[in-house]
Amino acid sequence: MPADRLMPTEESADLIRLTRDLMTKELAPQVAAAEATETFPREAFRTLGRAGLLSLPYPEEYGGGAQPYEVYLQVLEEIAAVWASVGVGVSVHALSCFGLFTRGTDEQKQKWLPEMLSGELLGAYALSEAHAGSDPAAMKARARRDPSTSSGGAGDYVLDGAKAWITHGGHADFYKVMARTSEDRNGISCFLVPGDADGLVADPPERKMGLTGSATTTIRLEGVRVPAERRLGEEGDGLRIALAGLDSGRLGIAAVATGLAQGALDHAVAYAKEREAFGSRIIDHQGLSFLLADMAAAVQTARATMLHAARLKDRGLPFSTEASVAKLVATDNAMKVTTDAVQVLGGYGYTKDFPVERFMREAKVMQIFEGTNQIQRLVIGRALDRAPGGRIEVDRAGS
Ligand SMILES: Cc1cc2nc3c(=O)[nH]c(=O)nc-3n(C[C@H](O)[C@H](O)[C@H](O)COP(=O)(O)OP(=O)(O)OC[C@H]3O[C@@H](n4cnc5c(N)ncnc54)[C@H](O)[C@@H]3O)c2cc1C
Repeated sequence: MPADRLMPTEESADLIRLTRDLMTKELAPQVAAAEATETFPREAFRTLGRAGLLSLPYPEEYGGGAQPYEVYLQVLEEIAAVWASVGVGVSVHALSCFGLFTRGTDEQKQKWLPEMLSGELLGAYALSEAHAGSDPAAMKARARRDPSTSSGGAGDYVLDGAKAWITHGGHADFYKVMARTSEDRNGISCFLVPGDADGLVADPPERKMGLTGSATTTIRLEGVRVPAERRLGEEGDGLRIALAGLDSGRLGIAAVATGLAQGALDHAVAYAKEREAFGSRIIDHQGLSFLLADMAAAVQTARATMLHAARLKDRGLPFSTEASVAKLVATDNAMKVTTDAVQVLGGYGYTKDFPVERFMREAKVMQIFEGTNQIQRLVIGRALDRAPGGRIEVDRAGS
């Protein structure tokens, strides 16, 4: 095992425990009301930010928590086991900082990253458009240079278009926006746009079947001026930056889905130990305990695939295919586990008096965003095609 591998420490274990404590004691009492009233829980993010939980996978020199990705994902799991909307939000925030961290110049990073990781600000990631979800290269939003302005001699960009489905739309303090800078299909660039920029307008949030506390909106860019110094990477690098971020972001969604499934399983087991039918606890009926056993196996399988990919990432090894496997397995398993949790609770599971019906509605979107599960299969299928002998080798050294 390489000596420089980021390893979990005693502090990491404390962090995971602290997160579970904070979520169950402080935030759990707020979840049902916020989700029922479709209220964006901005204060919950401040609480997590103050606890240092919005910056975990980034280095200390920029104000990050310097945690291995495998620890960050387990923290996300604890958050999502209680509040999926907030878990998704933390993952999206990490994704929105990723481009600056990986592709920003030293000057750009020093200037913006510490504030973005301070816990006070919340980010958004704006890739999709109404007609361009699975195929983001079909995007139409444009960024044109305005030579009449001077920004260190480089000229401002002027952004026009509409980005759809933006998590935190209308609430974010900054947006990582992908927009077209040439007619080339891949002629897309990446910009860091302040949330209060003139001409950036949020539509009312979408009415969704789940994640109702998380605001998802179309963002309209109407002549938004962005100084050239806010472009990340070179012109034309935007799609690469966006997709590289998604490899890590998909692991975030795998973690959220795993947490959601674990939360549903916890409720189902607790209920099955209390509820009686035919004179005994329902967990004593083998038909029901086998269902619970399959749910537990599905949660553990999801966690194992996610941690395997995270450990590759922590060791600096390729992990893109494994991230797609983890996203696919964790989100399909979450859909099955949350549906079965409703079954375990019988009629009560179908009511809003218990949270499992909400978990089931929330699980569905995990199969859709950050690349639908068809797109994950596409990524895995292509990797099989490329792999020598058609086999994706497992790295057997220490992961
Ligand atoms: C709640 C929510 C939050 C979101 N947050 C964000 C965000 O913060 N930022 C952001 O940029 N986007 C966000 N999205 C957008 C999300 O990533 C897209 O919805 C997703 O990528 C799918 O795109 P689409 O909806 O246009 O579906 P389409 O691309 O139209 O796909 C429709 C169907 O066709 C299938 N399909 C498409 N192409 C293929 C293919 N080649 N092979 C097989 N099947 C295919 C898809 O799997 C899907 O089942 C969010 C979406 C939701 C619902």
